[in-house]
Amino acid sequence: MTLTEKLKKWYEKNGRDLPWRVKGKAHQNPYEVWISEIMLQQTTVKTVLPYFERFLKRFPTIADLAEAPIEDVLLLWQGLGYYTRARKLHECARVVTQKYNGYFPADRKELMKLPGIGPYTSAAIASFGFNLPEAVVDGNVIRVLTRLNGWEDPVTTIADQINAFAEELTKASPCPADHASAIMDLGAGVCTPRSPLCPFCPFNQDCVAFKTGKTENIPNISKLKKEIKKGYVFFIENKQGQILIRKRTEKGLLSGLTEFPWNTDESFPFKAQWQITDKTVKHVFTHFDLTLTIVKTQVDSLPENCDGFFVFPAEFKNYPFSTLMQKVIKKMSGEKKKNTLLP
Ligand code: SF4
Repeated sequence: MTLTEKLKKWYEKNGRDLPWRVKGKAHQNPYEVWISEIMLQQTTVKTVLPYFERFLKRFPTIADLAEAPIEDVLLLWQGLGYYTRARKLHECARVVTQKYNGYFPADRKELMKLPGIGPYTSAAIASFGFNLPEAVVDGNVIRVLTRLNGWEDPVTTIADQINAFAEELTKASPCPADHASAIMDLGAGVCTPRSPLCPFCPFNQDCVAFKTGKTENIPNISKLKKEIKKGYVFFIENKQGQILIRKRTEKGLLSGLTEFPWNTDESFPFKAQWQITDKTVKHVFTHFDLTLTIVKTQVDSLPENCDGFFVFPAEFKNYPFSTLMQKVIKKMSGEKKKNTLLP
């Protein structure tokens, strides 16, 4: 039996049932495939499932998404993180609606011209949405393929080799969509980063890493050293009990989201009687780890040189706060009751 045949057999019995997947053929709606793929970037399947359901309920078609204000999209994205994805998603929906009459092109090169769709996502839409023989290579797939071949070189130096082998397997499969799902499922559930379940793997007779006892060393992924950043987040209350919030600029980190003023240089935005609390929030970004200490004060009115506006805490739910800022809200809930803000 060939590798693809072994994988097919394993998948028929063990493949996951997911709402954005149809076994044995392409998904009937590439729009749903696209939504799921964008959500799944940097996010687990378990986390994505309820978001996917809510999103499709609110935006059942690409036209619904294209017509919606970006604020509605960001609100539904709240908690998923990496908000640039949501902005690009919205932009892409508009382009597909206007330029392609609401239908994704069934061609990987065309797909890559769309906002927010890179090499990986284009391959995923082509495969899952159109059953085209495009190799879908994510971290799970890389792990399976490098272990199977016993490739110990750093993954970044053998990317072409990995892609070529992935393509070879994909082309040998009668159903590329199933093949892509199968190899991902194998990586997610059997060929796991730690303690892979090799005795249950359809490739255990072929796998070099298993035979040589090197599964823990492969794939060879050199970890980048992350920067550590520290700063303050400011919880500024007026006499009416409203809190100062602001909208981030349209570009860059957490763009377009609502936030409390914060910085990473531990300076204060204006002169006031600041109280540094013992509360901190931590958040892991792609390139750095951030710890913010919550600092609070009370003011009569919006200080000069300070942008933003005041809202009551009960209104926070109407604004798209990032996960980082939601942590601040959680830490500060109960503060009003205890009346611990400065007089
Ligand atoms: S035999 Fe083990 S290491 Fe090899 S592909 Fe299967 S699960 Fe991964």
